[in-house]
Amino acid sequence: MAEGYTSSEGGSASRRALDESGKLYTQMKSHIATSGQLDRHGFPRPGGAANRAHFLESEWLNITKVSPCKSNEFNNSTHKKCRRCKKDFTIETPDRVTGGQCTYHHGRCWNNIWKCCGKQEGSRGCTTAGTHVHDDNMRDPSGYVTTVIKPTPENGNPGMYAIDCEMSYTINGLELTSVCIVDHNLKTVYHSYVKPDSRMLDYNTIHSGVTERDLQGVSTTLKDVQNFMLETFSKDTILIGHSLESDFVALKLIHETVVDTSLMYPHPRGLPFKSALRTLAEKHLRLYIQRGTHDSKEDAVACMKLAIAKVRRQSFSSGRGSSARGGRNRGLENFLLDFF
Ligand SMILES: [Zn+2]
Ligand SMILES: [Zn+2]
Repeated sequence: MAEGYTSSEGGSASRRALDESGKLYTQMKSHIATSGQLDRHGFPRPGGAANRAHFLESEWLNITKVSPCKSNEFNNSTHKKCRRCKKDFTIETPDRVTGGQCTYHHGRCWNNIWKCCGKQEGSRGCTTAGTHVHDDNMRDPSGYVTTVIKPTPENGNPGMYAIDCEMSYTINGLELTSVCIVDHNLKTVYHSYVKPDSRMLDYNTIHSGVTERDLQGVSTTLKDVQNFMLETFSKDTILIGHSLESDFVALKLIHETVVDTSLMYPHPRGLPFKSALRTLAEKHLRLYIQRGTHDSKEDAVACMKLAIAKVRRQSFSSGRGSSARGGRNRGLENFLLDFF
């Protein structure tokens, strides 16, 4: 007997023939983040009013340094504190920013040591940039779009896509400058540089991989990306990513069907720690990413592979793997390598 899919729309359950992607979708559903997780991890939530997001206050966000969207309030004044070196500066006009150069550490500080240069916490920065920067727009609730309910396709798969975004600093804060979306076959369905709305302050190339040259002649705007997403996704589409809350903030997207690889593969020390994507890719896929220039397609593909690998491992464990004692690990390795 063919497996069926229970449709939720219209309140009437109907059974449909699932293809492989429909089966994968059904399996993937067990990893969807709860609304409590979305709240706690700083995802933009429905705000009541159209085009507005709501962010819940979360103590976690103040201690979690892995996400850029940790500011609790939207500050739209011209007085800023530099996100990198913590100095005060002012955006007097779109063309005039006070404060001079920014000297900072571009890596993370771990156990009082800066990863970028090995210097002690509190030491003078190892990197100099032309200007200070801020991310005060991370809690700006305006300009959001929300995915809508659409009929479930016959194959039972409303879509599974992995997303990775890059952001650069403008006078408005952090803005989207690159986005890549891949489907469950690892096929790129959207990959574009994005022209920010405000004047560029710093391309943030060291983290984003985006350069001045990349954005030359680019006319794609955030609105274009949002239109593509609303056309392609429905409310039931599973969107996959690593700490996807920052991507949703960059995309100004409200969507609640989320598989987040940072939650799917919890850090050994538990929250608020989160494993880096490159660590998970190395450990679980033997995939070595982010070794040279940052590439959003590489990250999106790694997220999709991690999500599918988790689902495949589970079906392997509950199926033929459970009876294959002894050779089980080797069998699993081969199974996953075959799959990818
Ligand atoms: Zn600074
Ligand atoms: Zn440093």
